[in-house]
Amino acid sequence: MKRFKLDYYLDGLKAHDHVILARAITLVESKRKEDQKVADQLLDKIVENQRRSIRIGITGTPGVGKSSFIEGFGSYLIDQGKKVAVLAVDPSSQKTGGSILGDKTRMEFLSRNPKAYIRPSASGNALGGVNNRTREAVMLCEAAGFDVIIVETVGVGQSETLVNNMVDFFLLMIQPGSGDDLQGIKKGIMEMAHGIVINKADGDQAKLAKQSKKDLLSALHLFAASETGWSTQVELCSALEKIGFDAVWQMIQAFELEMTSNGSFDQNRSNQNMSWFEERVQLGILLELSEKAGLKTIQNELKLKIQQNKVSVSKATAQMLDAIKQQLA
Ligand code: GDP
Repeated sequence: MKRFKLDYYLDGLKAHDHVILARAITLVESKRKEDQKVADQLLDKIVENQRRSIRIGITGTPGVGKSSFIEGFGSYLIDQGKKVAVLAVDPSSQKTGGSILGDKTRMEFLSRNPKAYIRPSASGNALGGVNNRTREAVMLCEAAGFDVIIVETVGVGQSETLVNNMVDFFLLMIQPGSGDDLQGIKKGIMEMAHGIVINKADGDQAKLAKQSKKDLLSALHLFAASETGWSTQVELCSALEKIGFDAVWQMIQAFELEMTSNGSFDQNRSNQNMSWFEERVQLGILLELSEKAGLKTIQNELKLKIQQNKVSVSKATAQMLDAIKQQLA
């Protein structure tokens, strides 16, 4: 990795230079202490002049059509005069070595558009964990002049919660399906979603998609209203035939307008920053502690004793916390 001075990154972002944006994201993802120092300075500088953008999270099981949708919808947004960045949170990348956006041909058209920026998820970009730098990447994209930031994730594990915590609008993508299929969608995700898009509403499936929309709307009716006053909308779409993008965009714009006027938009971003801060501090403390050699030994000894049923978990926890307190004293 090539290293540059702070001003190089700052000027590059200001000039909306995509190559420098990519380098800046690589910098914030770096685990080297010296890189982190420059990365922190950079993030600190850009937080002062943050631009307004809309951050959209998209989740859905593999095969539902997320990349086809992002390819088409991204191009639609560019036609509307927007600049679009696409980032990925990929919980599977570490295990498989692959990544959901790794194969750039999946968004071939968009990736060639100068008004778009697509960032495949880095292998170190593990779900949760200290190495996840997607939030920072979002900020850098905003500083580089992108108006719409799309964060894509596959519906596995806690990735949806993670993404929901860093976006303004959370979109769940599903396929047309029977009532049974729809019941299989996790309730928590449905509740989290600001919008549900039923993709592949074309050909033979068009009729089923309409029925799915009715079924979903009546299911959503049973959920308690959200604090912000927004109720989850359902839209039909065909990424393949490029139908429904305008309805999806209208839904997102209506959301932004309503949330901005009732104060929820800024409140949500502020809450996200609070939990981001708390999360980072907790992780930082854990990291600091795990680097203390003595504690590691005690922890390993206690783990062994637990395995051998020589100590209860609660007693071992108390002993571990005592050891930590001694370190801090
Ligand atoms: P992802 O895994 O969610 O990113 O899904 P992909 O975008 O890779 O799409 C999976 C498959 O569904 C591909 O074969 C696409 O051609 C197909 N597909 C995606 N969108 C549509 C659509 O709107 N209609 C139809 N009929 N097929 C689609």
